[in-house]
Amino acid sequence: MILRWRSGEPLPWATTKVVCVGRNYAEHAKELGNAVPEKPLLFMKPSTALVDLEAGFSLPADRGEVHFECELAVLLGEPLTKASEAQASAAIAGIGLALDLTLRELQNELKAKGQPWELAKAFDGSCPVSPLVPVAEVGALDALRFQLYQNGELRQDGASSDMITPIPGLLSYISQHFSLKPGDLVLTGTPKGVGKLALGDSLRLVLAERLDLQSQVG
Ligand code: ZN
Repeated sequence: MILRWRSGEPLPWATTKVVCVGRNYAEHAKELGNAVPEKPLLFMKPSTALVDLEAGFSLPADRGEVHFECELAVLLGEPLTKASEAQASAAIAGIGLALDLTLRELQNELKAKGQPWELAKAFDGSCPVSPLVPVAEVGALDALRFQLYQNGELRQDGASSDMITPIPGLLSYISQHFSLKPGDLVLTGTPKGVGKLALGDSLRLVLAERLDLQSQVG
C-alpha cells in the first residue's frame, strides 16, 4: 500500500513492513501487568496490515476483543542496516499516528503459551495509519504529544519524552536485526489507556498542531 503525506501527495515508496515495539512506555507495561523489558521488544506487521486511518476501518469478526493502541509512527526515507543513532535520525522522513490493533484475548493466550504474537497483531487491516508529516515540519522528536479520543472521551495522552527507548535508539537497535527500507514504518509503542473498540466507534487522533483527524470503526 502507498501511504500519503499530509499534503495528500502519495509517498514515493511502498511500505514493505511495519516494525512494532512492545512495552516502550512504563505506565502501559504496568496496566497490562507486564515487566518493562531490558531491550526493546519487537514484532512486525506485514504490508497487508496497512489501511488508511482516515477512510475508517473494520474489525475482525468473532475473534474476541480488539483493542486500540495509538502510537507514533516513524517513516523511513533511507535504508538502514546496522546503523548508529545518528544515521538512524538522519534516515527519518516523516512522523504520523497509527493504531496497533490487537486481538487482546488471543494475545493473552499466545503469551501464556510463550508463542509469537503475530496471530493477534498482524491480521489484515491491523495497522490503520494517518497521513505522514514531513520530518522537517515535526520539530523535536523527543517533544511530541499525541492523543486518542474514543467517542469524544480522551483515552490516551502520550509524550515521546516518556519512551523507555527514544526514537533514534529504537531505529538503531531495530537495524541491528532487520534492515529497514524507505517507506517502512516503525511503531514506537503505546502509552497507557488502551481499550476495547466497538462497531460504530468514532475516533479522533491528534498529533499536537500537526495532525487532527477522525476515523470510524465500521
Ligand atoms: Zn503497540
